[in-house]
Amino acid sequence: MPPAPVYLDYQASTPVDDRVQAAMARATDLYGNPHTTSHIAGIEANRAVMHARRQVAQAIKGDARRVVFTSGATEANNLALFGAARAAVGRRKIVILASEHSSVFEPALALGEEGFDVQVLPVSGNGTVNLENVEKAVDPSTALVSAMHVNNETGVVQPIAEIAEISHRHGALLHSDCAQSLGRLQVDIDHLGADMLTLSAHKCYGPKGIGALYVGGHKSVALQPLLYGGGQEGGIRAGTLPVPLCVGFGEACRIAAANVDAESERMGFLAGKLLETILEMCPHARLNGSRTQRVSCAFNVCFPGTVSDELLNAFEGIYVSSGSACTSAVLAPSRVLLAYGLSASDADASLRFCVGRFTTDADIETAKRIVAGGVARLGLMRRTAA
Ligand code: PMP
Repeated sequence: MPPAPVYLDYQASTPVDDRVQAAMARATDLYGNPHTTSHIAGIEANRAVMHARRQVAQAIKGDARRVVFTSGATEANNLALFGAARAAVGRRKIVILASEHSSVFEPALALGEEGFDVQVLPVSGNGTVNLENVEKAVDPSTALVSAMHVNNETGVVQPIAEIAEISHRHGALLHSDCAQSLGRLQVDIDHLGADMLTLSAHKCYGPKGIGALYVGGHKSVALQPLLYGGGQEGGIRAGTLPVPLCVGFGEACRIAAANVDAESERMGFLAGKLLETILEMCPHARLNGSRTQRVSCAFNVCFPGTVSDELLNAFEGIYVSSGSACTSAVLAPSRVLLAYGLSASDADASLRFCVGRFTTDADIETAKRIVAGGVARLGLMRRTAA
Protein backbone atom coordinates (compact mmCIF):
# COMPACT_ATOMS: atom_id res chain seq x y z
CA MET A 1 0.00 0.00 0.00
CA PRO A 2 1.38 3.46 -0.83
CA PRO A 3 2.03 5.64 2.23
CA ALA A 4 -0.69 8.10 3.22
CA PRO A 5 -0.24 11.47 1.53
CA VAL A 6 1.80 13.99 3.47
CA TYR A 7 -0.07 17.25 3.91
CA LEU A 8 2.29 20.21 3.52
CA ASP A 9 -0.20 22.88 2.49
CA TYR A 10 -0.89 24.37 5.92
CA GLN A 11 -0.85 27.90 4.49
CA ALA A 12 -3.87 27.06 2.34
CA SER A 13 -5.78 25.65 5.30
CA THR A 14 -5.29 23.58 8.44
CA PRO A 15 -7.17 20.53 9.74
CA VAL A 16 -9.52 21.30 12.63
CA ASP A 17 -7.86 20.39 15.94
CA ASP A 18 -9.74 17.66 17.92
CA ARG A 19 -10.04 20.01 20.91
CA VAL A 20 -11.63 22.63 18.65
CA GLN A 21 -14.04 20.05 17.24
CA ALA A 22 -15.03 18.98 20.74
CA ALA A 23 -15.69 22.59 21.79
CA MET A 24 -17.75 23.20 18.66
CA ALA A 25 -19.75 20.00 19.17
CA ARG A 26 -20.70 21.14 22.68
CA ALA A 27 -21.66 24.59 21.34
CA THR A 28 -24.12 23.20 18.78
CA ASP A 29 -26.52 22.63 21.70
CA LEU A 30 -26.58 26.38 22.33
CA TYR A 31 -29.60 27.07 20.14
CA GLY A 32 -30.47 30.56 21.43
CA ASN A 33 -29.69 33.73 19.53
CA PRO A 34 -26.48 35.13 21.07
CA HIS A 35 -27.85 38.66 20.68
CA THR A 36 -30.97 37.90 22.74
CA THR A 37 -30.67 38.45 26.45
CA SER A 38 -34.32 38.08 27.49
CA HIS A 39 -34.07 34.35 28.24
CA ILE A 40 -31.52 31.80 29.33
CA ALA A 41 -31.13 30.19 25.87
CA GLY A 42 -29.91 33.50 24.45
CA ILE A 43 -27.84 34.32 27.51
CA GLU A 44 -26.01 30.98 27.35
CA ALA A 45 -25.23 31.44 23.65
CA ASN A 46 -24.07 34.97 24.39
CA ARG A 47 -21.81 33.74 27.18
CA ALA A 48 -20.15 31.26 24.84
CA VAL A 49 -19.56 33.96 22.25
CA MET A 50 -18.15 36.35 24.84
CA HIS A 51 -15.79 33.64 26.08
CA ALA A 52 -14.63 33.04 22.49
CA ARG A 53 -14.19 36.78 21.98
CA ARG A 54 -11.91 36.89 25.03
CA GLN A 55 -9.88 33.94 23.74
CA VAL A 56 -9.40 35.62 20.36
CA ALA A 57 -8.39 38.91 22.01
CA GLN A 58 -5.98 37.18 24.41
CA ALA A 59 -4.20 35.47 21.52
CA ILE A 60 -3.10 38.89 20.25
CA LYS A 61 -2.89 40.46 23.75
CA GLY A 62 -5.82 42.69 22.90
CA ASP A 63 -9.15 43.74 24.36
CA ALA A 64 -12.21 41.53 23.80
CA ARG A 65 -14.47 44.54 23.13
CA ARG A 66 -12.47 45.30 20.01
CA VAL A 67 -12.96 41.94 18.28
CA VAL A 68 -15.40 42.12 15.35
CA PHE A 69 -16.31 38.61 14.16
CA THR A 70 -16.51 38.21 10.38
CA SER A 71 -16.92 35.30 7.97
CA GLY A 72 -13.16 35.03 7.55
CA ALA A 73 -10.08 37.02 6.65
CA THR A 74 -11.45 37.98 3.24
CA GLU A 75 -14.34 39.82 4.83
CA ALA A 76 -12.15 41.29 7.56
CA ASN A 77 -9.74 42.68 4.96
CA ASN A 78 -12.60 44.09 2.87
CA LEU A 79 -14.09 45.69 5.98
CA ALA A 80 -10.74 47.23 6.94
CA LEU A 81 -10.07 48.70 3.52
CA PHE A 82 -13.51 49.82 2.37
CA GLY A 83 -14.59 50.67 5.91
CA ALA A 84 -11.62 52.86 6.81
CA ALA A 85 -11.27 54.50 3.38
CA ARG A 86 -14.94 55.47 3.12
CA ALA A 87 -15.07 56.73 6.71
CA ALA A 88 -11.91 58.85 6.41
CA VAL A 89 -12.42 62.59 6.39
CA GLY A 90 -10.21 64.60 4.03
CA ARG A 91 -7.76 61.76 3.37
CA ARG A 92 -7.93 60.04 -0.02
CA LYS A 93 -4.71 58.00 -0.25
CA ILE A 94 -4.47 54.25 0.40
CA VAL A 95 -1.07 52.53 0.50
CA ILE A 96 -0.64 48.76 0.18
CA LEU A 97 2.21 46.37 -0.64
CA ALA A 98 2.51 44.60 -3.98
CA SER A 99 2.65 41.23 -2.20
CA GLU A 100 -0.69 41.56 -0.37
CA HIS A 101 -3.29 38.80 -0.50
CA SER A 102 -6.01 39.34 -3.12
CA SER A 103 -8.51 40.15 -0.38
CA VAL A 104 -6.51 43.34 0.27
CA PHE A 105 -5.25 43.90 -3.27
CA GLU A 106 -8.65 43.73 -4.99
CA PRO A 107 -10.48 46.03 -2.53
CA ALA A 108 -7.62 48.53 -2.96
CA LEU A 109 -8.06 48.40 -6.75
CA ALA A 110 -11.81 48.84 -6.30
CA LEU A 111 -11.18 51.88 -4.08
CA GLY A 112 -9.05 53.25 -6.91
CA GLU A 113 -12.12 52.94 -9.13
CA GLU A 114 -14.06 54.92 -6.50
CA GLY A 115 -11.58 57.76 -6.89
CA PHE A 116 -9.12 57.03 -4.08
CA ASP A 117 -5.43 57.52 -4.80
CA VAL A 118 -4.09 53.98 -4.40
CA GLN A 119 -0.37 53.43 -4.16
CA VAL A 120 1.02 49.90 -4.44
CA LEU A 121 4.52 49.74 -2.97
CA PRO A 122 7.03 47.36 -4.55
CA VAL A 123 8.76 44.73 -2.45
CA SER A 124 12.41 43.84 -2.87
CA GLY A 125 13.77 40.52 -4.09
CA ASN A 126 13.66 39.12 -0.56
CA GLY A 127 9.94 39.95 -0.35
CA THR A 128 10.11 42.72 2.24
CA VAL A 129 9.18 46.34 1.67
CA ASN A 130 11.90 48.96 1.76
CA LEU A 131 10.98 51.36 4.58
CA GLU A 132 12.29 54.32 2.58
CA ASN A 133 9.55 53.64 0.04
CA VAL A 134 6.98 53.64 2.85
CA GLU A 135 8.39 56.99 4.05
CA LYS A 136 8.06 58.42 0.54
CA ALA A 137 4.53 57.16 -0.01
CA VAL A 138 2.82 57.96 3.29
CA ASP A 139 1.87 61.60 3.83
CA PRO A 140 -0.87 63.65 5.53
CA SER A 141 -3.31 62.73 2.73
CA THR A 142 -3.01 59.01 3.60
CA ALA A 143 -6.07 57.46 5.22
CA LEU A 144 -4.83 53.89 5.48
CA VAL A 145 -1.74 51.75 5.03
CA SER A 146 -2.30 47.99 4.74
CA ALA A 147 0.68 45.67 5.11
CA MET A 148 0.44 41.93 5.70
CA HIS A 149 2.39 40.36 8.55
CA VAL A 150 3.27 36.96 7.03
CA ASN A 151 2.95 36.22 3.33
CA ASN A 152 0.73 33.26 2.44
CA GLU A 153 2.90 32.05 -0.46
CA THR A 154 6.42 32.51 0.89
CA GLY A 155 6.16 32.99 4.66
CA VAL A 156 8.10 36.28 4.41
CA VAL A 157 7.53 38.58 7.41
CA GLN A 158 7.10 42.35 6.95
CA PRO A 159 8.45 44.94 9.45
CA ILE A 160 4.99 45.90 10.72
CA ALA A 161 6.06 47.91 13.78
CA GLU A 162 8.28 50.14 11.63
CA ILE A 163 5.50 50.60 9.04
CA ALA A 164 3.11 51.46 11.90
CA GLU A 165 5.47 54.13 13.21
CA ILE A 166 5.71 55.81 9.80
CA SER A 167 1.94 55.59 9.26
CA HIS A 168 1.12 57.08 12.65
CA ARG A 169 3.59 59.91 12.23
CA HIS A 170 1.44 61.11 9.33
CA GLY A 171 -1.87 60.40 11.08
CA ALA A 172 -2.67 57.39 8.86
CA LEU A 173 -4.16 54.13 10.14
CA LEU A 174 -2.28 50.87 9.78
CA HIS A 175 -4.08 47.62 9.00
CA SER A 176 -2.20 44.31 9.03
CA ASP A 177 -3.46 41.03 7.60
CA CYS A 178 -2.28 38.52 10.23
CA ALA A 179 -4.20 35.54 8.83
CA GLN A 180 -0.93 33.62 8.40
CA SER A 181 0.81 34.66 11.60
CA LEU A 182 -1.31 33.42 14.49
CA GLY A 183 0.23 30.21 15.85
CA ARG A 184 3.38 30.67 13.79
CA LEU A 185 4.74 33.84 15.39
CA GLN A 186 3.95 35.79 18.53
CA VAL A 187 1.23 38.25 17.50
CA ASP A 188 0.98 41.16 19.92
CA ILE A 189 -1.19 44.06 18.85
CA ASP A 190 0.83 46.55 20.91
CA HIS A 191 4.17 45.40 19.59
CA LEU A 192 2.90 45.43 16.02
CA GLY A 193 1.34 48.84 16.52
CA ALA A 194 -1.49 48.09 14.08
CA ASP A 195 -4.82 49.90 14.35
CA MET A 196 -6.64 47.00 12.69
CA LEU A 197 -5.61 43.39 12.44
CA THR A 198 -7.14 40.52 10.44
CA LEU A 199 -7.40 36.91 11.65
CA SER A 200 -8.83 33.71 10.12
CA ALA A 201 -9.79 30.57 12.07
CA HIS A 202 -9.04 28.00 9.38
CA LYS A 203 -5.39 29.06 9.22
CA CYS A 204 -4.90 28.12 12.88
CA TYR A 205 -6.71 24.75 13.23
CA GLY A 206 -10.18 26.26 13.58
CA PRO A 207 -13.23 26.00 11.32
CA LYS A 208 -13.69 27.62 7.93
CA GLY A 209 -16.20 30.46 7.72
CA ILE A 210 -15.08 32.60 10.63
CA GLY A 211 -12.42 35.21 11.27
CA ALA A 212 -12.16 38.59 12.89
CA LEU A 213 -11.12 42.15 12.39
CA TYR A 214 -9.57 43.57 15.53
CA VAL A 215 -10.43 47.26 15.47
CA GLY A 216 -8.77 50.05 17.35
CA GLY A 217 -5.25 49.32 18.54
CA HIS A 218 -3.81 52.76 19.15
CA LYS A 219 -6.44 55.28 18.25
CA SER A 220 -10.15 55.21 17.64
CA VAL A 221 -10.88 53.87 14.19
CA ALA A 222 -13.90 55.07 12.22
CA LEU A 223 -15.25 52.34 9.96
CA GLN A 224 -18.14 52.37 7.56
CA PRO A 225 -19.86 48.95 7.70
CA LEU A 226 -20.11 46.66 4.69
CA LEU A 227 -23.20 44.93 6.09
CA TYR A 228 -26.14 46.81 7.55
CA GLY A 229 -28.83 45.15 9.63
CA GLY A 230 -29.47 44.52 13.29
CA GLY A 231 -26.50 46.48 14.59
CA GLN A 232 -24.54 43.47 15.88
CA GLU A 233 -20.80 43.75 16.54
CA GLY A 234 -21.10 47.35 17.68
CA GLY A 235 -22.89 48.31 14.47
CA ILE A 236 -19.80 47.47 12.40
CA ARG A 237 -20.89 44.07 11.12
CA ALA A 238 -24.56 43.12 11.16
CA GLY A 239 -25.76 39.51 11.29
CA THR A 240 -26.41 36.81 13.88
CA LEU A 241 -23.15 35.26 15.00
CA PRO A 242 -22.57 31.54 14.29
CA VAL A 243 -22.07 30.37 17.88
CA PRO A 244 -20.25 27.03 17.23
CA LEU A 245 -17.90 28.73 14.76
CA CYS A 246 -17.11 31.52 17.24
CA VAL A 247 -16.47 28.92 19.96
CA GLY A 248 -14.21 26.89 17.65
CA PHE A 249 -12.30 29.99 16.64
CA GLY A 250 -11.84 30.98 20.30
CA GLU A 251 -10.54 27.54 21.25
CA ALA A 252 -8.21 27.49 18.22
CA CYS A 253 -6.80 30.87 19.29
CA ARG A 254 -6.32 29.66 22.86
CA ILE A 255 -4.36 26.61 21.73
CA ALA A 256 -2.34 28.55 19.15
CA ALA A 257 -1.28 31.24 21.61
CA ALA A 258 -0.42 28.76 24.37
CA ASN A 259 1.87 26.69 22.14
CA VAL A 260 3.28 29.11 19.60
CA ASP A 261 6.90 29.08 20.76
CA ALA A 262 7.25 25.31 21.08
CA GLU A 263 5.28 24.66 17.89
CA SER A 264 7.18 27.12 15.75
CA GLU A 265 10.48 25.64 16.91
CA ARG A 266 9.35 22.09 16.11
CA MET A 267 7.81 23.04 12.76
CA GLY A 268 10.85 25.11 11.85
CA PHE A 269 13.11 22.15 12.52
CA LEU A 270 11.04 19.85 10.28
CA ALA A 271 10.64 22.42 7.49
CA GLY A 272 14.36 23.20 7.64
CA LYS A 273 15.26 19.52 7.14
CA LEU A 274 13.06 19.29 4.05
CA LEU A 275 14.28 22.59 2.60
CA GLU A 276 17.95 21.64 3.03
CA THR A 277 17.35 18.28 1.36
CA ILE A 278 15.65 19.93 -1.61
CA LEU A 279 18.40 22.52 -2.05
CA GLU A 280 21.11 19.84 -1.78
CA MET A 281 19.40 17.55 -4.30
CA CYS A 282 18.67 20.28 -6.85
CA PRO A 283 21.67 22.55 -7.28
CA HIS A 284 19.60 24.98 -9.38
CA ALA A 285 16.65 25.22 -7.00
CA ARG A 286 16.28 28.56 -5.21
CA LEU A 287 14.44 29.69 -2.12
CA ASN A 288 11.98 32.46 -3.03
CA GLY A 289 12.09 35.34 -0.58
CA SER A 290 14.19 36.00 2.48
CA ARG A 291 15.93 33.17 4.28
CA THR A 292 15.79 34.99 7.61
CA GLN A 293 12.73 37.31 7.50
CA ARG A 294 10.41 34.34 7.27
CA VAL A 295 8.27 32.09 9.45
CA SER A 296 10.32 28.96 9.93
CA CYS A 297 7.57 26.48 9.00
CA ALA A 298 7.02 27.72 5.43
CA PHE A 299 9.12 28.04 2.32
CA ASN A 300 8.66 28.52 -1.40
CA VAL A 301 11.11 27.03 -3.88
CA CYS A 302 11.71 27.71 -7.56
CA PHE A 303 12.82 24.72 -9.65
CA PRO A 304 14.00 26.60 -12.77
CA GLY A 305 13.22 24.99 -16.10
CA THR A 306 10.13 23.14 -14.86
CA VAL A 307 6.45 24.03 -14.71
CA SER A 308 4.36 23.64 -11.59
CA ASP A 309 2.10 20.96 -13.08
CA GLU A 310 5.00 18.60 -13.77
CA LEU A 311 6.37 19.27 -10.28
CA LEU A 312 3.02 18.52 -8.67
CA ASN A 313 2.79 15.28 -10.68
CA ALA A 314 6.36 14.30 -9.88
CA PHE A 315 5.82 14.94 -6.17
CA GLU A 316 2.59 12.96 -6.03
CA GLY A 317 2.05 11.81 -2.46
CA ILE A 318 2.79 15.15 -0.89
CA TYR A 319 0.10 17.79 -0.82
CA VAL A 320 1.64 21.15 -1.71
CA SER A 321 0.49 23.88 -4.02
CA SER A 322 1.99 25.96 -6.77
CA GLY A 323 2.71 29.63 -6.55
CA SER A 324 0.10 30.07 -9.26
CA ALA A 325 -3.32 31.50 -8.64
CA CYS A 326 -6.15 29.82 -10.46
CA THR A 327 -8.71 32.32 -11.65
CA SER A 328 -11.64 31.17 -13.77
CA ALA A 329 -9.72 28.07 -14.86
CA VAL A 330 -6.91 30.22 -16.30
CA LEU A 331 -3.57 29.64 -14.63
CA ALA A 332 -1.64 32.84 -14.11
CA PRO A 333 1.80 33.15 -12.55
CA SER A 334 1.74 34.20 -8.92
CA ARG A 335 1.39 37.99 -8.56
CA VAL A 336 3.38 37.72 -5.32
CA LEU A 337 6.36 35.99 -6.93
CA LEU A 338 6.30 38.41 -9.86
CA ALA A 339 6.43 41.22 -7.28
CA TYR A 340 9.59 39.56 -5.85
CA GLY A 341 11.12 39.99 -9.29
CA LEU A 342 10.75 36.42 -10.58
CA SER A 343 10.13 35.93 -14.31
CA ALA A 344 6.74 34.47 -15.25
CA SER A 345 8.41 31.13 -16.02
CA ASP A 346 10.29 31.01 -12.70
CA ALA A 347 7.10 31.95 -10.86
CA ASP A 348 5.35 29.06 -12.58
CA ALA A 349 8.22 26.75 -11.64
CA SER A 350 7.71 27.40 -7.93
CA LEU A 351 5.99 25.44 -5.18
CA ARG A 352 5.11 26.41 -1.64
CA PHE A 353 5.58 24.03 1.30
CA CYS A 354 4.32 24.53 4.82
CA VAL A 355 4.72 22.26 7.83
CA GLY A 356 2.06 22.29 10.55
CA ARG A 357 0.95 21.02 13.95
CA PHE A 358 0.24 17.49 12.73
CA THR A 359 3.37 17.00 10.62
CA THR A 360 5.58 14.24 12.03
CA ASP A 361 9.24 13.28 11.59
CA ALA A 362 8.02 10.29 9.58
CA ASP A 363 6.06 12.64 7.28
CA ILE A 364 9.20 14.62 6.55
CA GLU A 365 11.17 11.43 5.82
CA THR A 366 8.39 10.33 3.43
CA ALA A 367 8.32 13.78 1.80
CA LYS A 368 12.10 13.67 1.34
CA ARG A 369 11.84 10.28 -0.39
CA ILE A 370 9.02 11.48 -2.66
CA VAL A 371 10.90 14.65 -3.57
CA ALA A 372 14.07 12.63 -4.27
CA GLY A 373 12.11 10.32 -6.59
CA GLY A 374 10.46 13.26 -8.38
CA VAL A 375 13.73 15.13 -8.73
CA ALA A 376 15.38 12.05 -10.26
CA ARG A 377 12.48 11.45 -12.67
CA LEU A 378 12.53 15.07 -13.85
CA GLY A 379 16.32 15.07 -14.09
CA LEU A 380 16.49 18.14 -11.87
CA MET A 381 19.94 17.26 -10.55
CA ARG A 382 21.26 18.34 -13.94
CA ARG A 383 18.56 20.56 -15.33
CA THR A 384 19.18 24.29 -15.64
CA ALA A 385 16.75 27.04 -16.49
CA ALA A 386 15.15 26.57 -19.91
N1 PMP B 1 -5.21 36.76 3.90
C1 PMP B 1 -4.25 35.84 3.84
C2 PMP B 1 -2.83 36.23 4.10
C3 PMP B 1 -4.58 34.51 3.54
O1 PMP B 1 -3.61 33.59 3.48
C4 PMP B 1 -5.93 34.18 3.28
C5 PMP B 1 -6.31 32.77 2.90
N2 PMP B 1 -5.61 32.28 1.79
C6 PMP B 1 -6.89 35.18 3.37
C7 PMP B 1 -6.49 36.46 3.68
C8 PMP B 1 -8.34 34.88 3.16
O2 PMP B 1 -8.78 34.14 4.27
P1 PMP B 1 -10.22 33.46 4.39
O3 PMP B 1 -10.11 32.16 3.70
O4 PMP B 1 -10.44 33.33 5.87
O5 PMP B 1 -11.21 34.39 3.77
